[in-house]
Amino acid sequence: MKRYELQGTENADYICDFCGKKHISKCFVVLDRETGEVKRFGSSCIVKALGVSMKEIKADAARQIEEIRHEYYEKIYPISSEANAIMAAYRKEHDYPIGFLPESEERYWELTKEESRLTREMNDKIYKLQF
Ligand SMILES: [Zn+2]
Repeated sequence: MKRYELQGTENADYICDFCGKKHISKCFVVLDRETGEVKRFGSSCIVKALGVSMKEIKADAARQIEEIRHEYYEKIYPISSEANAIMAAYRKEHDYPIGFLPESEERYWELTKEESRLTREMNDKIYKLQF
């Protein structure tokens, strides 16, 4: 296992944990698995600090994005299938071809909200790993 885990990027003013200078460029956030500390580096300093190339860091981020997608699709799929089944049954029963289901269909709305929440959460995590 690698000592450092890339957690993503941030756009903010920060003091680089490698060179001690204030950077205003993109910030790479990593977790030091040995100490449990979260550290922030500039893009040239992360390469020196971790002893890896930017290409490896990008490959690592791409792998993490795939894992995140997989993890979330597994959570979202059953939720969206159940919501679709409720919608299909409702439409059939009420001869209701289009439009949103009424608010009284509580389970449907609960599922729909959970699906949007998970999708947002997934996209936020992916966004931080795209640089
Ligand atoms: Zn630096």
